[in-house]
Amino acid sequence: MNPRFTGAKAIGAISTWALTHVFHRPAANFPGKIGLYVDPMLIANLRTRLNEGSVVVVGTNGKTTVTNLLANAFEAAGKTVACNRTGANLDSGVATALLHTTEADWGILESDELWLAKALPQLQSNYVVLLNLFRDQLDRMGEIEHIQESISRALASSPATTLVYNADDPLCQAIADCAPNRCIPFGIDEELGLAQNTVTDASMCQHCDSLLEYAWRQYGQLGSFACPNCGFERRHPAYAACDVALSEAESTFTLRSASRNARVSMPFSGAYLLYNVLAAYTVADCCGIPLSSVDAAVHSFAPQNGRLQRYEIDGRHILLNLAKNPTGFNQNLRIVENTPGPKAVAFFINDKEADGHDVSWLWDVDFQELAECEGLTAYAGGIRRNDMQVRLKYAGIDAELVDGAHDFLAKTSNLPADTSLFLIANYTALPAVKAELDRQADESQNVSSTHFQEEVPGVDESQNVSLTHFQEEISGMDRDAGNESEIRSVTHPEKLTIVHLYPELLNLYGDGGNVTILAERARRRGIAVEIVRVSHGQTVDLGNADIVFLGGGPDREQHLASIDLLAQADNLRAYVEDDGVLLAICGGYQILGREWLLADEIVPGLGIVDITTRRAEGGSHNRLVGNIALHSALASMPVVGYENHAGRTSLGAGCQPFGRVVGAHGKGNNDTDKADGILYRNVVGTYLHGPLLAKNPEVADHLIQRALARCAQKKGLPAPTLLSLDDTIEQAANTFMRAHLGLR
Ligand code: GLN
Repeated sequence: MNPRFTGAKAIGAISTWALTHVFHRPAANFPGKIGLYVDPMLIANLRTRLNEGSVVVVGTNGKTTVTNLLANAFEAAGKTVACNRTGANLDSGVATALLHTTEADWGILESDELWLAKALPQLQSNYVVLLNLFRDQLDRMGEIEHIQESISRALASSPATTLVYNADDPLCQAIADCAPNRCIPFGIDEELGLAQNTVTDASMCQHCDSLLEYAWRQYGQLGSFACPNCGFERRHPAYAACDVALSEAESTFTLRSASRNARVSMPFSGAYLLYNVLAAYTVADCCGIPLSSVDAAVHSFAPQNGRLQRYEIDGRHILLNLAKNPTGFNQNLRIVENTPGPKAVAFFINDKEADGHDVSWLWDVDFQELAECEGLTAYAGGIRRNDMQVRLKYAGIDAELVDGAHDFLAKTSNLPADTSLFLIANYTALPAVKAELDRQADESQNVSSTHFQEEVPGVDESQNVSLTHFQEEISGMDRDAGNESEIRSVTHPEKLTIVHLYPELLNLYGDGGNVTILAERARRRGIAVEIVRVSHGQTVDLGNADIVFLGGGPDREQHLASIDLLAQADNLRAYVEDDGVLLAICGGYQILGREWLLADEIVPGLGIVDITTRRAEGGSHNRLVGNIALHSALASMPVVGYENHAGRTSLGAGCQPFGRVVGAHGKGNNDTDKADGILYRNVVGTYLHGPLLAKNPEVADHLIQRALARCAQKKGLPAPTLLSLDDTIEQAANTFMRAHLGLR
């Protein structure tokens, strides 16, 4: 008898009882957490409760859906399962699911990517399903490479485990390539012809420094890829979806494997759901579960956990879904776009620990696609609703702020009766939104028609409130319009040319949003803008450039971009010495210096500004991560942003930093100087993501002003004055952030 194990089981049982009966809270994590504290080998000890073994589901998007689909399919086949259905996916959630089971045939367990390294050595599962890897919570996860390493370590600790993985994802393929485990790839074997997203999470080969080539790409980095240089490529899927027909009511595909050729269907659309369903079929088949059981699970799938959950409240169709990273978000936007008729959508964005404190990724989402959607009303909610509102503004969407789902439902109650409502929330924002929808759905079922009429005056009140807000916004827009006519009479260049260098490589944390913001702020002033994107391998022509932008990137991508730039360093240097405007963020900023360190290798920089970047002890895992606020000579308001970098930069003697760190908020260049970035001629180099210009419109206007002045000077004209825009929304986001950081 193992006393630790006995103690952990007892304490798990007592805490489950207390949580459910006394505190009326779900006991999804806590029993396992204290159980693991008492017996660190609790999961290994509980594993014996699973008669046939376990399947662990990991991947950035779709884990909870696939876990629930699998659990339902196994149950439909008459198996008993232990499952953490609600998505409690740390080791504590896995342990809790096992504690709550006396005996089961299978464990169907969802695991967080980084926590797999804790759970798998103990579980020694039969299968690990790896769905996909996208950038998500980079402040917690570090770069994607770090997640890959962690998953590889987990697999190495359990060599008898079979890895079932998405072969369309180069990031998953790279893990499979070096895993000692048996591997079963699945994938979609044809081009689906979907619209492409702006930002993808892996454009480089996983083994050498080449850009991947695609025969077709579905979305994100998923598709049929191959490296032209080293032979790294998508493996032929053992389970493939082909002859795919996606449609709203029912999508069908042929599931093809060595032993089958079955036509299967699912009652929903969306390529990401197709991947989820394909993964479920693959694993189930490997475990000997009949396809008919998966089919039953897929067709009766009615999620109750806020993932694609449907509601009917007061006769309105409502869809709630989780979205927590750009790829997931883009898939959600597709659902909204493809829904016919009028629609209202609310985005709820929080920035708590489990969400990641950084929300710059919102700028990697293709919200501009929604702007083209007819009959759409948008709302922004959650802790970071001001950030969301700014993001939507620059996507051409006027969004109203809402205080929770209740407020959203009240504000949309005056919209036409056939308006479809969408609530899209990130991780910690979801439970409150779901609770409110659950409550109103219950109420709506019980409401009699008289009761409904009584409530109408209340609804009217909220309509008035929203109308006032709306009118305020209209007057703001009028002010803008006034400016535009005013500015047309001012001398300005025919066109401002913004050169965006290597957007496919240097695009971390929404940095590309800076280009959108610069362009939009120039256009609002009646100045035409041309954006020239220079990709890897292309020559940088700065002859007509007015503003050049270089974003941040992971080490490998940064290195590839820097090799290209190094060959053209004189070109960029001449532009800078000619007072050309250049904004460089993080990795891009480092490249401008004398040298920077990649792991232990010193990489020569362009030597355009007098900075040197080194690594702190501990290499790339010792990062400076978090919110940061600066006093900068370029802005009267404090500059706010987000930093996440391993490099430590020091300025040469006499160099002026971009800003000085306010209080204890952030580090900037290095651990000691309390300063960030550099100002040199018309160069602004900084570590601030956010993107930098979103909440700091003064910095954006400084850059535009300098570009216009340079243009005018070349023509012998006086520098034009930049007329002011209505920045209420941007300033509110800046003010919120300062308050959020405890600054005045
Ligand atoms: N790769 C660089 C570093 O870690 C830059 C990262 C970034 O651009 N965020 O220091």
